[in-house]
Amino acid sequence: MTTESRKQARVAVVGGGVIGLAVAWRAAVAGHAVTLFDPEPAAGASWVAGGMLAPVAEAWPGEEAVLELGEESLAQWPQFADELTTDGADPVMNTAGTIIAAWDPGDAAQLEVLADYLRRVGRGAELVHGHELRKRVPGLTSRLRAGLVVPGDLAVDNRRLLKALLLAGERRGVDYRREWVEAVGPGTVRTESGEFDCDEVVLAAGARTGALHDELRGLVRPLKGEILRLRARRTSLPPPPMTVRAVVENRPLYLVPRSDGEVVVGATQYEAGFDETVAAGGVRELLDAAERVYPSVAEYELAETAAGLRSASTDNLPLIGRLSDGVIVATGHYRNGLLHAPVTARAVVALLDGGELPGAARAADPARVEKEASV
Ligand SMILES: Cc1cc2nc3c(=O)[nH]c(=O)nc-3n(C[C@H](O)[C@H](O)[C@H](O)COP(=O)(O)OP(=O)(O)OC[C@H]3O[C@@H](n4cnc5c(N)ncnc54)[C@H](O)[C@@H]3O)c2cc1C
Repeated sequence: MTTESRKQARVAVVGGGVIGLAVAWRAAVAGHAVTLFDPEPAAGASWVAGGMLAPVAEAWPGEEAVLELGEESLAQWPQFADELTTDGADPVMNTAGTIIAAWDPGDAAQLEVLADYLRRVGRGAELVHGHELRKRVPGLTSRLRAGLVVPGDLAVDNRRLLKALLLAGERRGVDYRREWVEAVGPGTVRTESGEFDCDEVVLAAGARTGALHDELRGLVRPLKGEILRLRARRTSLPPPPMTVRAVVENRPLYLVPRSDGEVVVGATQYEAGFDETVAAGGVRELLDAAERVYPSVAEYELAETAAGLRSASTDNLPLIGRLSDGVIVATGHYRNGLLHAPVTARAVVALLDGGELPGAARAADPARVEKEASV
């Protein structure tokens, strides 16, 4: 295929979560003819997620490539959001930053490990006393031991983002087909209504992507997460102004405020196959931890409970790249799919245009896993 014909490629995107929608929109902007298949677009893990854009707070020793990819994507977020606002709607970013609180001495030791690591890899994050956190977020309990201030980690309203992406894609000519894809091959997508011919298929079906291509078998697995949406009442203290993460008796917690008085409280994480039901124990665990850290949430309305499936790879880096002739994959974004949307869309469009994976996305090439598997 010539570069010229690639510029006009017929692209089929399988999956309409944040990754598929972002890819479809950017590919349409780049001049491709895009059809997106999903019986229920703007749902999936992307709809239930917390919305943190948090490469630094999510960093951990040994996961340098994940940190680099996340930071590259975070740097692209402001322009991505601006262009999305022009083409679709404002995804509503919160730029107030993030704090991470530690509940007990063991939790404080965990924060020190993170702070040490961040210092070693040259990322600044300030370790502070618990009372310093309360100066920044007055509704926090006075019992916190220590905290970390991460001003650069941001957040976005994931639901507004998805609606904006749907609209932007539609305005740029993306054809949304509300159909389930049964199988894909080079240059073809099969649904129950028949075969669809194309030049390129992009597999972006989240935790279910593994079933769509032989090369992905065993490389993508679902990791369940429960999450809550609480709403402040007129008489209660308002939600924190910024993202509050915490470690409470060794368990991670976060409270992510929205501009309309809602606060998202997450999230559990455990292996449960494709089960997307909400377990009572998961809700109890989250409410208990949230109330300890930010006591006034006990008065809030419990507006929603939900569960979603993160798509996890074997090394926590996404799988972004060409799988075979005419088939590209973009999945395995684990806890960072919203964060990684801009960098992933850019990488996939580079491949559709006949180029190579750019920048930090090179580390996400699925060839790395195939190589390891064959050693
Ligand atoms: C509780 C929780 C909290 C999270 N919080 C954050 C956060 O704060 N920040 C962050 O960056 N990330 C977060 N994540 C992770 C993030 O949600 C995911 O990484 C991201 O949503 C992945 O997007 P996706 O488009 O790959 O998958 P999904 O959003 O799951 O979308 C996949 C889509 O593919 C469709 N599909 C599947 N199979 C087929 C098929 N055969 N044919 C057609 N369509 C198909 C599905 O219907 C679905 O709409 C969180 C996840 C969970 C579960």
